[in-house]
Amino acid sequence: MEPITHYVGGCPQAPKDEVFSEIRNPATGELLGRVPADGGEGALAAVEAASRAFLDWRRIPAGERIQYLFGFKQLLEANFDEIARTITLENGKTLAESRGELRRGIENVEVACGIPTLMQGYNLEDIAQGIDEIMIRQPLGVVAIITPFNFPSMIPLWFLPYALACGNTLVLKPSEKTPLTVTKIIDLLGRLDLPPGVVNVANGCKGAVDVLLDHPDVRAVSFVGSTPVAKYIYARASANGKRVQCQGGAKNHVVVMPDADAEMTVKIVSDSAFGCAGQRCLAVSTAVTVGEARDHFRDAIVDVASSLSVGSGLDESVQMGPVITSQSKERIEGLIEQGVAEGAKAVLDGRGVKTSTHKNGNFLYPTVLDNVSSGSTLSETEIFGPVLSLVHVNTIEAAIELIAANPYGNASSIFTSDGAVARKFRYEVPTGNVGVNIGVAAPMAYFPFSGWKDSFLGVMHGQGRDAVEFYTDKKVVVERWPKNWSRKF
Ligand code: NAD
Repeated sequence: MEPITHYVGGCPQAPKDEVFSEIRNPATGELLGRVPADGGEGALAAVEAASRAFLDWRRIPAGERIQYLFGFKQLLEANFDEIARTITLENGKTLAESRGELRRGIENVEVACGIPTLMQGYNLEDIAQGIDEIMIRQPLGVVAIITPFNFPSMIPLWFLPYALACGNTLVLKPSEKTPLTVTKIIDLLGRLDLPPGVVNVANGCKGAVDVLLDHPDVRAVSFVGSTPVAKYIYARASANGKRVQCQGGAKNHVVVMPDADAEMTVKIVSDSAFGCAGQRCLAVSTAVTVGEARDHFRDAIVDVASSLSVGSGLDESVQMGPVITSQSKERIEGLIEQGVAEGAKAVLDGRGVKTSTHKNGNFLYPTVLDNVSSGSTLSETEIFGPVLSLVHVNTIEAAIELIAANPYGNASSIFTSDGAVARKFRYEVPTGNVGVNIGVAAPMAYFPFSGWKDSFLGVMHGQGRDAVEFYTDKKVVVERWPKNWSRKF
């Protein structure tokens, strides 16, 4: 099988690497492709192409640059089902989930079409008599985008449309586990006669990333992935003087109050915990029941979770697909084991499952662990799989304290019918995204998206106006135009 190509200067480019890793269908184990294990040489060529393209691209008026995005949106819509199928093939999530993430990605293309307005600066006449001041936003130059496996289309689209529309050129480094979706999407962009080098793709892993972090022509880095890698990227790219935004891992809590709507809460929490097989940075990982919510919620969530149909995401009747790799499956099973050893009770145990049709898939069934104690490994570790921990406290104050003690701060939710309790939660909880009777508090494309604490390193968040802020530099001009010049030099 030929290895996946880079995309450099408007053309596919075969990698020169000698070592490759495999891209496998998580539901069947089938080999889908091979990707450079390093990718440094491809990344270098990609940065050089992006550098060459920058000056001409930035001179194209914003109103013309966005015409490419209008065309891009049309092509994404026309190829919607094919892209969704590719996402499911390489990532394993259900087709409905693939369609959902692609839709959210396209919304960012739509928002970035507003760049001629969003990118405007501001000015003030007569800051002193006869002197005016103008703030202009200018593109940065070459920007790098490094993305994870769990949203192969949406996360690249959190960044790419804004970076382009603002007049930057870019190098995208998709996850080595799911690069086929980006290949498809970039092939569509290539049909639009975008000037060569404006968009480039470097496939690979650490070798490719390190080139992007060190190359002097890369002005900014947008990263999404796990927290240890986020910290590494933030430190190295910042030390090299780059602007950096790193969205990291998560450990999200949902608080269930005794006055919550029982049926709605259980259904939504189940969707949040087990949707995408728990491989969402906004997935709930721990349900904190308050007071009397405890017993009913535990029994009801086990009922709903145990009824989910698990299998290949290509089967429209399936509600939960596999996890990404066999190593990931083993890691999650090990964490369940450790949780039980530390005193948790597996009231629903999804380990050891073999579906008859997909023996080689990385399948786990939903797992619910009761009595997970605070401070245990399970309570602090990002599991990133279909495992929901249950914790019990007596007051809303104790629930907020428990969330605040966690090192992550991506998202949290509360289910209640009491507005005052909901407001207290919203006001006090230290997470970047908050849901009130919502299980996955995912901001729309025109709102900023990022967590707090160990879930985010940087200042400007992703999407919307923050993306414009991140991908532009502000230049201030102070002007005087005297009426009567004295003798000229
Ligand atoms: P990952 O950190 O393993 O990989 C992310 C990217 O970093 C990939 O492109 C990968 O090639 C690269 N990478 C991996 N190891 C590297 C290294 N040592 N040096 C340099 N680059 C390296 O993450 P993943 O497993 O692909 O994705 C899952 C993680 O992403 C979870 O922790 C999840 O919470 C997080 N995530 C966060 C958000 C968010 O918005 N905060 C969104 C989605 C996913």
